[in-house]
Amino acid sequence: MIEDARRLSEDTLIETDLAIIGAGAAGITIARELAGTDMRICLLESGGLEFEQDTQNLYDGENGGRWYFPLDTCRLRYFGGSTNHWGGWCRPLTPIDFEARDWVPYSGWPITRADLDPYYERAQTVTETGPFRYDATAFWEEQTGAKMLPLSLGLITTTFFQYSPPTRFGTRYRKDIEQATNVRALLHATVTEIETSETGAEVTGLRVATLGGPSFRVRAHRYILATGAIENPRLLLQSNRTQPAGVGNTHDLVGRFFMEHPHVPGVAGMVTSRPEAFNAAYTQHLSLADSIVHAALIPTDALLRRERLQQAVFTIGVMGVYTAENLAGEAPADQQRARDIFNLQRDLDPPRTTDHPPAGYNDWPPAGALGANCTFGCACEQAPNPDSRVTLSDERDALGLPRARLDWRLSEADKLSLNRIVRAVADEFGAQGLGRVRPALSDDGNWPEQTIGGYHHMGTTRMADSPELGVVDANCKVHGVANLYIAGSSVFTTGGASNPTLTIVALALRLADHLRTRSS
Ligand SMILES: Cc1cc2nc3c(=O)[nH]c(=O)nc-3n(C[C@H](O)[C@H](O)[C@H](O)COP(=O)(O)OP(=O)(O)OC[C@H]3O[C@@H](n4cnc5c(N)ncnc54)[C@H](O)[C@@H]3O)c2cc1C
Repeated sequence: MIEDARRLSEDTLIETDLAIIGAGAAGITIARELAGTDMRICLLESGGLEFEQDTQNLYDGENGGRWYFPLDTCRLRYFGGSTNHWGGWCRPLTPIDFEARDWVPYSGWPITRADLDPYYERAQTVTETGPFRYDATAFWEEQTGAKMLPLSLGLITTTFFQYSPPTRFGTRYRKDIEQATNVRALLHATVTEIETSETGAEVTGLRVATLGGPSFRVRAHRYILATGAIENPRLLLQSNRTQPAGVGNTHDLVGRFFMEHPHVPGVAGMVTSRPEAFNAAYTQHLSLADSIVHAALIPTDALLRRERLQQAVFTIGVMGVYTAENLAGEAPADQQRARDIFNLQRDLDPPRTTDHPPAGYNDWPPAGALGANCTFGCACEQAPNPDSRVTLSDERDALGLPRARLDWRLSEADKLSLNRIVRAVADEFGAQGLGRVRPALSDDGNWPEQTIGGYHHMGTTRMADSPELGVVDANCKVHGVANLYIAGSSVFTTGGASNPTLTIVALALRLADHLRTRSS
């Protein structure tokens, strides 16, 4: 059932078993999983079914660290949350991403990739992606009928992204929520405070407001906070009536360890005279019978361990194709260098004939292509850093609540790690004669100005066994608070280099299972 909270009477008290705050990828997944059970669920969503500027303005905030997207544009505040504009790129975290790595400060999840695997498999269905086979090169070679890159130095390897259509959780799963008799979804219902007992050991209720309408309260046996990794700490920190430092913040960890996936556009360039070696999966989204895939490159675990590096992922974008026609005649000055490199490489390593990609996947390379000028896109792991954080601003929103203030920080070590892996790609491609790669990063620890995030907010209520190292435990329950759970990427202990939503959905499915099997 979906209702508009603006029609409730002032001071209504809603009593329920489970209150879920936020109807995005995480909140909707949990509500759907528990639909049809005997649990009464109240799903509280700040927005309506469509975008509304007044509600979106509640997301406005301050940026105090390195440049970041305005906080009201890098997420969406209505039913379905940020999946209303996500790109659909999916990839699980890899097993090493969960490990405690002594060279990555604060690394080490209290769960392993194997613990999440069954939930990742189910998350494929929720995100409408294909088989749970991300690093299975042989499988995708069979599916695409195309050979992946020959890589033999043990430095980098091929991995695969899959694309969700992208699933807009709000529209795709709205009917499920409407038809679930045990789920009461309230729209335009902004949770303004999580109330706790005097000791802070238990949540006793939620204060909820509507813009220009009634305020009311929700009392539940258990609560899940699922408002995204900037808003989750904001709501915990602003709920300071009985706990001056905020709910679940005994150890001053709420809001700390904000992580992103630094993206450096044009992190390297490449000229290749072997366009046929890069089958269509590397250069575009390849549509197969039940999935859309895109091949990418990641460092091997051996390289990460040996050289004590952090995770990264690279995609290849084609900037231009060399044909006999465009190689003839004068080239514009800015293309002359790429052309010289192309000619040099062609002389060293003449194009070979190939029988792949086969018919059906023949849009790459285009007819007559003798080579290509490419650029690499990248996303990489930043090590958890307590000083990279979300705090409360002095500014207030239309409901009188302190806005979020983000201070995103990256370290020199993060940059040097990425730099080394870019060079590993260059080494491997050079050794295989695949292309001349020109790394674009400087050798120092300075991040280039064009470094941006990927709209991936993570880490601000991190998971750890010890309350001194994390806000939630391995079951996503807030340490020291008996009945409060957190869903979403704020619980990520480390961020790897994989887009977060598949992992958010997997963790949400796991949390739903946990709540189903435990009555308290
Ligand atoms: C432009 C863009 C592209 C992206 N592309 C990708 C991609 O390709 N792959 C990928 O994996 N990820 C991508 N993401 C990230 C992805 O959208 C998020 O990881 C995902 O939506 C997070 O899910 P969530 O449920 O934790 O939060 P959200 O989806 O943000 O949902 C949070 C919900 O909580 C509600 N809410 C907030 N505050 C309150 C409150 N106080 N009371 C009640 N309700 C509240 C909001 O209205 C919202 O509906 C992208 C994001 C953006 C912005």
